[in-house]
Amino acid sequence: MSHSHAAGRSAEEALQALMEGNQRFRNGKFKERDLGSARRIDLVENGQKPFAVVLACSDSRVPVELLFDQGMGDIFVVRVAGNVVDPVALGSIEYGLEHLGANLLMVLGHSNCGAVKATVDGGEAPGSIAAIVKKIQPSVAKMAANGLSGAELCSRVEEENVFTTIREIKASPIVHHLMEHGLKIVAAKYMLDSGEVILM
Ligand SMILES: [Zn+2]
Repeated sequence: MSHSHAAGRSAEEALQALMEGNQRFRNGKFKERDLGSARRIDLVENGQKPFAVVLACSDSRVPVELLFDQGMGDIFVVRVAGNVVDPVALGSIEYGLEHLGANLLMVLGHSNCGAVKATVDGGEAPGSIAAIVKKIQPSVAKMAANGLSGAELCSRVEEENVFTTIREIKASPIVHHLMEHGLKIVAAKYMLDSGEVILM
């Protein structure tokens, strides 16, 4: 029964595994992935030990396990439109890090993000979508103050929003504590066209 997939992986090892997986994805050379019943039962009986937590956008073009070429039990994924956090999303992240023991958190923004574009475009966001827009607005204000506009503004906001989210996550006492014990947080951006994950 293989257990080498996760246990005790350091932040550096976890990041390397993600980036190597992304390289395989871009090359279309996926590793053989065990999605069989034996693997499922192994994960139930022995529990999950994901080596990374990834916060990404819900965008259907950002399928986290696929773009890092990972299988079941490998990544604890939190997906929220605009990759923003509220207490519920932050609780999910804390659970993956503190309870399941992952030493790496990646906040993954992406190009052509609809949540960012909607916020940049402005106007009234219907229903609870307004709560997402409100989270992204400070990044828009900051980048617009730099004189940016249009596609360039959207692109820079996609990046700034990742750093804003990370600042919010770091305000968590649990995350703060874990950072003194080996947790690393990395900012990254996924390019929809090239398939590349770029560390920021
Ligand atoms: Zn998005």
